[in-house]
Amino acid sequence: FAAAMQRELLFKVLVIGDLGVGKTSIIKRYVHQIYSQHYRTTIGVDFALKVLQWDKDTVIRLQLWDIAGQERYGNMTRVYYREAVGALVVFDVTRASTFDAVMKWKDDLDQKVTLNHGVPVPAVLLANKSDQAPCQQPRLDSFCRENGFVGWFETSAKENTNIEEGARCLVEHILSHE
Ligand code: GDP
Ligand code: MG
Repeated sequence: FAAAMQRELLFKVLVIGDLGVGKTSIIKRYVHQIYSQHYRTTIGVDFALKVLQWDKDTVIRLQLWDIAGQERYGNMTRVYYREAVGALVVFDVTRASTFDAVMKWKDDLDQKVTLNHGVPVPAVLLANKSDQAPCQQPRLDSFCRENGFVGWFETSAKENTNIEEGARCLVEHILSHE
């Protein structure tokens, strides 16, 4: 009886950012609990499903959309963005150019998908490869405030740092629009 009372929610979440920042590694770590050094470019669009027992009444299926090579060309087609309700925008703390590209990704996102009434989809910024270098906290706080990110996390797919926290923050914001 209790099981019948559960609500199940399916959320499409995009994982975007420049080539090599660790998008695929973050998804593999989060969904499959694995990490590999071996560089492999994803081919095509790929998605993975993470099932969360959010609370006793709610099961959330997070469909994480990876991109694959197209990030080389800058932006993605509307098909990729369609019906997304949230995004993880990733940069690599060891490569400044990938941070410079964050706004380009955020603008592309906001141009191609919105929630009802034109509200931007919630986006969380992930400062990845934090096992290799520290990042500048005060700067990122104001960057997020000024550029419409709901939060940021220093992550490491390698060491499994803060990926769950970043995803949880995103889901909380997605739920607040439900
Ligand atoms: P994508 O192109 O954004 O999907 O990036 P990948 O997930 O393919 O990662 C690119 C490279 O960075 C791979 O060699 C990964 O092993 C490495 N990498 C990814 N995440 C981390 C991390 O948190 N720390 C370190 N040191 N390397 C990482
Ligand atoms: Mg990839």
